[in-house]
Amino acid sequence: MSQTTIFEVMSGLCRELGAINLGQGFPDMEEPPEVIGAAQRALVERSNQYPPMRGLPELRGAVAGMYGVSAAEVIVTSGATEALASAILALVRPGDEVICVQPLYDAYLPLVARAGGVARLVNLRPPAWSLDLDELAEAITDKTRLIILNTPNNPTGTVLDRATLEGIGALAQRHGIYVLSDEVWEATVLDGSKPLSVLDIPSLRERSVKVGSAGKIFSLTGWKIGWAVAAPELAERVAASHQFITFTTPTPLQWAVAEGLALGEAWFAAHRARYVESKARLVSGLTQAGFCVLPCAGTWFVTVDLAASGLPAQDELLAQRLVREAGVGSIPVSAFYADRPERGYLRLCHAKRGETLDQAVERLAGFR
Ligand code: PMP
Ligand code: GLN
Repeated sequence: MSQTTIFEVMSGLCRELGAINLGQGFPDMEEPPEVIGAAQRALVERSNQYPPMRGLPELRGAVAGMYGVSAAEVIVTSGATEALASAILALVRPGDEVICVQPLYDAYLPLVARAGGVARLVNLRPPAWSLDLDELAEAITDKTRLIILNTPNNPTGTVLDRATLEGIGALAQRHGIYVLSDEVWEATVLDGSKPLSVLDIPSLRERSVKVGSAGKIFSLTGWKIGWAVAAPELAERVAASHQFITFTTPTPLQWAVAEGLALGEAWFAAHRARYVESKARLVSGLTQAGFCVLPCAGTWFVTVDLAASGLPAQDELLAQRLVREAGVGSIPVSAFYADRPERGYLRLCHAKRGETLDQAVERLAGFR
């Protein structure tokens, strides 16, 4: 857990070796001029001083409008990462157990450990990467304080369905457990459907913190504007934690995100269409080159099943070889597990220009 995160390691290697980076999830396409322009105007025309601790009212209102909640329930944070930290540090006490679902985003376990919590792990099962409610129920003890969900899931793209979320809601109610739902990939379900949120499930509404990220919604990952959304009593506790972590989040970028959220459905559909295209291009290139790509509803990633592609099921080793020998960065799915035996899945980011993807596929095909 004290290792440097795989995203930093792989991006560092790509920079050092001049490899194409399909590892860390960030787009290399044109950045939305409407939102960049709003930030430029905000820098010059609006305030660059501290905003209110819970966020600019304009941004809290825009986020609240998007989710159909009240602005009092929204806390703006420095990226989703800070929302996760604030929520975990607010809710988990030393000795509490926290159920985490693998494969999981690599920030969760260190944050749970920092809060003094003990992680209990349940697994999504490939190839559908579905969550088994019985396995989840078995992991609950009288010490369970929190369940951490990630829907759509990074790296598999799985979206939790209503029956699963309602099942989790029933368990959470019965055992008095909170739920932290990392929904940063909510805008990336490429059939255009809106994935269900914990905010949509009555049994989860009062006991959940939802986390979102403008970095993902607007493809501006370096902006680090996120938010936590929760019923007022829970939001108070997250705010109490947030105020002594980062206190506030850069003012001009908050203005710009608030403007961006008002762009309207046609803009968001056009934005999403770029990723429909990039995903189709990478999946078809990989498939033609003999790789077996697993189905994936959301995120900017696709997952390759190595054994089904006729390759040894050693993802960490392969990721190292690919970046050094083929010049393509990727992320081994093993990095999303607490224990690290080699697993057989490799994650590739499709959120890239056509030329970048074509060149990467050519190199990967040549490596086989
Ligand atoms: N959660 C998940 C599942 C992610 O994939 C990421 C980053 N891609 C984050 C949180 C962090 O988001 P942010 O950059 O807004 O902190
Ligand atoms: N969330 C992005 C990914 O999964 C980037 C994560 C990071 O750099 N920490 O690739």
